[in-house]
Amino acid sequence: MSPTFVTPTTDALALTLEPSPVPPLAPPAYTATPPITAKPAAALPTKPSPTLPPTITPDNLPQIIGYSYEGRPIYSYRFGSGPIPIVFVGGIHGGYEWNTILLAYQAMDYFAAQPYRIPTNVTIFIIPVANPDGLFAVTQKEGRFLVEDLAEDTFPGRFNGRNVDLNRNWDCQWSATAVWRNQPVSGGSQPFSEPESRALRDFFLEKRPALVLFWHSAANGVFAAGCPETDGHSRQLATIFGGASGYPVYERFTYYLVTGDAGDWLSTQGIPSISIELKTHEALDWKENLAGMLTLLAHYNKHLQ
Ligand SMILES: [Zn+2]
Repeated sequence: MSPTFVTPTTDALALTLEPSPVPPLAPPAYTATPPITAKPAAALPTKPSPTLPPTITPDNLPQIIGYSYEGRPIYSYRFGSGPIPIVFVGGIHGGYEWNTILLAYQAMDYFAAQPYRIPTNVTIFIIPVANPDGLFAVTQKEGRFLVEDLAEDTFPGRFNGRNVDLNRNWDCQWSATAVWRNQPVSGGSQPFSEPESRALRDFFLEKRPALVLFWHSAANGVFAAGCPETDGHSRQLATIFGGASGYPVYERFTYYLVTGDAGDWLSTQGIPSISIELKTHEALDWKENLAGMLTLLAHYNKHLQ
């Protein structure tokens, strides 16, 4: 990351504010209250599906799925009410990959304002901040934040409050000493040693999603899960997302050895998973990810017709 945020800040803010019907980044809008419930009536959808309620319902209220090592809640927000659950996860690498968190919030705003975009057979769960300790480490905030809130050094925000890399803590080829780029990082004392990993694991096993999508930055690509070989269903979904978004599609993440990866473990449980690596550490890549998400939704819609 560059030492200044001048250009990226402008881009990220513009992308965040432009399609949103309310100004969620304005300082008065930031409260401990879940942001979706704070929307004024003007933000409600104008073309509600007849099968979906025209107002924000309690379904959009967050569910606390667990707590971080330092005791911060991990929220899941629900959109739609169909029988096929899919899950989008931002910020498993916390404040270091803060643009994945803003992207998740933007997706939440989008589906709250336009619920008719969700096929009637799908329920979307969005977990915007899987690593709230890591976000707090660089923003001194929980939940929504401003780009101006970010510390200059976002590196410490990659880990949880116990300095564990939460995407090295899952039970696929797990190793206590893991690798990130060319340096060692902690994978935890054992698989699922961290409360964040256990919360996500239990949520996934309860919901049995048709897909879990993780947002990361910034390797620019769509990566299919697998343990150790690429999972066929994950590969298919990665291809669908990649085709719509324009990101290059990769069978595996091969830049360096990744142990204890969340998506790879999910594939051992029969749950397909893909990881989207945004192009940079700053921009949200909103258009690319919206196209990918809507094409995935169309895929599930068609699937059951
Ligand atoms: Zn990451």
